[in-house]
Amino acid sequence: MKSLIFVVVVTMLFSCNKQPYQEPMKKPKELTEKEWKEKLSQEQYHVLRQKGTERAFTGEYWDVFEDGTYHCAGCGNRLFDSATKFDAHCGWPSFDKAIEGSIVYKEDLSFGMKRVEVLCAQCDGHLGHLFDDGPKETTGMRYCINSVSVKLKK
Ligand SMILES: [Zn+2]
Repeated sequence: MKSLIFVVVVTMLFSCNKQPYQEPMKKPKELTEKEWKEKLSQEQYHVLRQKGTERAFTGEYWDVFEDGTYHCAGCGNRLFDSATKFDAHCGWPSFDKAIEGSIVYKEDLSFGMKRVEVLCAQCDGHLGHLFDDGPKETTGMRYCINSVSVKLKK
């Protein structure tokens, strides 16, 4: 009996070894900073992971009003519908509403200001800030988002 168990265990060990080693799929929040650096462009990394801000009127989407959905450039999470995008003349893509559950909000006291930081709920990537000077006829809110943190899928 003992030798049978031994044979079974050895067989299992060997069959396990035959499997090619595969990196387990990581959830976005489990990625290390090194992995993010490899995954993102330098600009994306600076904004999403280091909370940088792209210069106004330089991003890809501030003046784009095509139909589609804006996804997180870090993890693909659906964030904003193009129907909620409006022209705020501020040089960054602006939305009056986010897709429910896609965003987390955090108080940001940097640069001597009191602002609300907007982060992707799925990967904690920094997207921009939320202000209350949006269009009065809709929500009154303005999500001021860096172009580099999002990707428009038409
Ligand atoms: Zn994300």
